[in-house]
Amino acid sequence: MNTVTPIVIIGGGAGGLELAAKLGRKHGPDKVYLVDKDTDHIWKPSLHEVAAGTLDIHREGLSYFMLARDCHFTFILGALEGLDREKKVIHVAAAQNEAGQTLFPARTIAYGTLVIAVGSKSNFFNTPGAAEHAITLDATAQAEHFRMQLLHALTQHQGTAAVDTTAEPVRIAIVGGGATGVELAAELTEAVASLHFYGANTFTPERHLSITLIEGADRILAALPPELSARATQLLHDRGITVRTGVRVTEVQANQLVDQNGECYAADLCVWAAGIQAPVFLTTLGLETNRIHQLVVNERLETVDPSIYAMGDCAQAPWVGEDAYLPARAQVAHQQANYLRRVLDAKIKGQSHTAPFTYKDYGSLVAVGHSKGVGSLMGVLSGKSWFVEGLVARMMYMSLHLMHHAAVLGVLRTFSLALGRLLLKRSAPRIKLH
Ligand SMILES: Cc1cc2nc3c(=O)[nH]c(=O)nc-3n(C[C@H](O)[C@H](O)[C@H](O)COP(=O)(O)OP(=O)(O)OC[C@H]3O[C@@H](n4cnc5c(N)ncnc54)[C@H](O)[C@@H]3O)c2cc1C
Repeated sequence: MNTVTPIVIIGGGAGGLELAAKLGRKHGPDKVYLVDKDTDHIWKPSLHEVAAGTLDIHREGLSYFMLARDCHFTFILGALEGLDREKKVIHVAAAQNEAGQTLFPARTIAYGTLVIAVGSKSNFFNTPGAAEHAITLDATAQAEHFRMQLLHALTQHQGTAAVDTTAEPVRIAIVGGGATGVELAAELTEAVASLHFYGANTFTPERHLSITLIEGADRILAALPPELSARATQLLHDRGITVRTGVRVTEVQANQLVDQNGECYAADLCVWAAGIQAPVFLTTLGLETNRIHQLVVNERLETVDPSIYAMGDCAQAPWVGEDAYLPARAQVAHQQANYLRRVLDAKIKGQSHTAPFTYKDYGSLVAVGHSKGVGSLMGVLSGKSWFVEGLVARMMYMSLHLMHHAAVLGVLRTFSLALGRLLLKRSAPRIKLH
């Protein structure tokens, strides 16, 4: 019988999976458990590519069962649905397949230390109609749903446009001019342009597709330096994307959006990428949460219960040295995973690790299509920020994804995987058509 009470990590995303892989390799499957509601891991910042069809989830996704074997942790499939802090157990819901058949029953799992890393989802800010009519990119299923909707809309449009040359283009409205919205808009124009090569000979994005990016602030990428926003706006204009700033969407209807002044924006498809919130079930665990349901943690990422930590998008953590909280970014989740690895390593050895988590901001990179990007990099020694753009910025952006894979799979396997994908690109269509 297993008498060890393990470290249980809930959520195998950008942060949780890296933590489980690093701890698992060192301490083994009896001491490290990972719980996730899904069977496959995908690096969330690539979901806009899944939505545009330029990245195939069936090739890109990594099976948690495979990762558990390779990285020596125990994987438990199912969603966290309850916590008993007195008994130190969690309740995991039954896991079902798409047909509703039960794969695993509901389970109760004892923990010694719990790490909650369940990420975030879109925040509709109570906008009427948004939950009903807008699509979000919170998870693979939604990104795939958008991709299929887009393919259907484009196929239908092609039929109509063949007999009616005055037919309106397919209109896509993206609400939220942060990194997600900007990256999706650019990726979509390039992906749709590729359709031309795969049978849709009469198709040209300029005539058949119209994308409007809507942002409430007075510039897109408002959290980044103004120079970067200006350059990204220019790159989007070059791709024929309409950028509207200072526009607050107050209602989403089936085929249009309405703003604060009552102006309407026609939209066959609407994507909502304007702000995040943590999953609401976190407010039921008896731990302190904030306005957007994030678990409140101290500078050591501890919740009010010192045996429960939270990290990544689902945590409100202080930014040590700044009068702010840490932003919801993959870079933060990655650094927190490294920090918690050291804390939990020490805990397993019976030592204490009291140093706070300090975040190093290395800057931000935003992909603007396949071959372009913009970004600001922080000079670690000088503290100054440097503007980068073009292919260099795009390559650096891609390297972030590779670094995540390397942290999980190791350098050699990441290299083989990257090489395999590069070769496959030469034999597969640029976008996923099925
Ligand atoms: C389209 C898009 C583009 C982005 N681009 C960038 C970018 O360029 N740079 C950047 O820094 N950040 C970017 N982000 C943000 C970045 O993805 C997140 O900050 C990061 O993934 C947070 O990591 P995490 O580990 O906290 O959560 P996630 O990576 O979201 O992982 C959460 C995990 O928890 C699991 N889970 C959820 N609920 C439960 C439950 N009840 N029980 C069990 N498991 C559960 C999920 O299945 C998932 O595996 C982007 C996000 C999106 C959506």
